[in-house]
Amino acid sequence: MTITNDEVLISVENVSKSFTGAAGDELRVLDDIDLQLRAGEIVALLGRSGSGKSTLLRTIAGLIGPTSGTVRYRGTELNGANPGTAMVFQSFALMPWLTVQDNVELGLAAQGVPPTQRRERALKAIDVIGLDGFESAYPKELSGGMRQRVGFARALVLEPDVLLMDEPFSALDVLTAENLRNELLTLWGGANFPTKAICIVTHNIEEAVLFADRVIVLGANPGHIRAEVPIDLARPRDRRAAGFETLVDTLYDLLTGREPGVTVPEPTEATPTARPLPTASVGGLAGLVEIVYAKGGRADLPDIAAELSFEADDLLPLVDAAAMLDLLIVAGGDLAITPIGKEFTTADIQRSKQIFAQQARHRAPLVRTICTALASSADGNLRAGFFLDLLRRGFSHDDAQQQLDTAIDWGRYAELYDYDTDSDQITADPAAGLHPALTA
Ligand code: ADP
Ligand code: MG
Repeated sequence: MTITNDEVLISVENVSKSFTGAAGDELRVLDDIDLQLRAGEIVALLGRSGSGKSTLLRTIAGLIGPTSGTVRYRGTELNGANPGTAMVFQSFALMPWLTVQDNVELGLAAQGVPPTQRRERALKAIDVIGLDGFESAYPKELSGGMRQRVGFARALVLEPDVLLMDEPFSALDVLTAENLRNELLTLWGGANFPTKAICIVTHNIEEAVLFADRVIVLGANPGHIRAEVPIDLARPRDRRAAGFETLVDTLYDLLTGREPGVTVPEPTEATPTARPLPTASVGGLAGLVEIVYAKGGRADLPDIAAELSFEADDLLPLVDAAAMLDLLIVAGGDLAITPIGKEFTTADIQRSKQIFAQQARHRAPLVRTICTALASSADGNLRAGFFLDLLRRGFSHDDAQQQLDTAIDWGRYAELYDYDTDSDQITADPAAGLHPALTA
């Protein structure tokens, strides 16, 4: 199965997708995506949280339609669910009231396969995926790893041309995930694997290098193809091989570095929607700056991730936040501490808070917007709902709330303003000198 031939199974042509935001505005999530999935290959879609990976996979599956552009299966434009695909979900998505056997048969029943054949095919898939003996168990009796095996059996029993997987291992513990990954790759390498191609969505860089023949890196705001990286390593792959690490570095660099030809406004000038706040706690980003300082002011991102057993998705928002505040500089997959970052991490707590306040007020667009609005308010008080309404023009409901939560966390720590849940009021801190009526 390792030889890629040129048989194009799925082609995505100029696909864009927009959703309607919380305030009725158009939110573009995918922008002009072109890609093909061919027989014999595993393609990984790698990107940060929010870059549109799940939306793209659901578009390929025909579960949602593109706003513009076309998805074809074997040359035919989709009109509803893609008949050549089956999906494995992060959340397993099993029917709790059905046994393993019945869960696996479900899709076959929907296709109108007669009961005897259904039974036979399901038993075979259950056997292949290592669930033998669990046919009559219910999902709640199974561990996470066994539940996801049911997820795989349910997809594989359909013998789809293309198996689609949306972060299938990310809800499992580390060892169970590694075990299932290896088993799946062994099956893929064997003669009887029932699908011709796999498309896996992941935010885990090593997982992408472990699986893929090609990694398609997605950038965000809106989701677009940033780069395509071929992975020419022999299988089975060894995480410790030199070539493996080089590719991991390359992908880290692509996920953190500046994108050629794309101008992103500087944090000191950007609006809150052009430069969203990374989902990072003050404690988390301060911890990262401290680690880089302790390593002599420079550190390799993949090393830090491995040391902390952090996945890229846990680490990258901290990196983005520290870079936005000019506490760290990111270049070529490396982190370097800035003079301000050094002062921030070595100063006493009061001084360190002052530095954070100054950086956040000038370089975190939403914090800046809140400070400016408080300064021009009548009494240094504003309803949080006011900012939420503004944010909903550029973000989905949940993302808007997430942005506000982060801005409140940062502003509180910085003693710029405080938030009271009961009254839903954001109040300028008298000590911060934001509002003339409020000075300490
Ligand atoms: P990923 O899987 O890479 O994390 P998603 O495809 O889930 O990204 O989401 C990309 C963006 O689209 C996010 O900002 C998300 O909030 C938004 N989004 C996804 N689905 C919807 C929807 N049904 N309505 C509005 N916004 C959505
Ligand atoms: Mg997703």
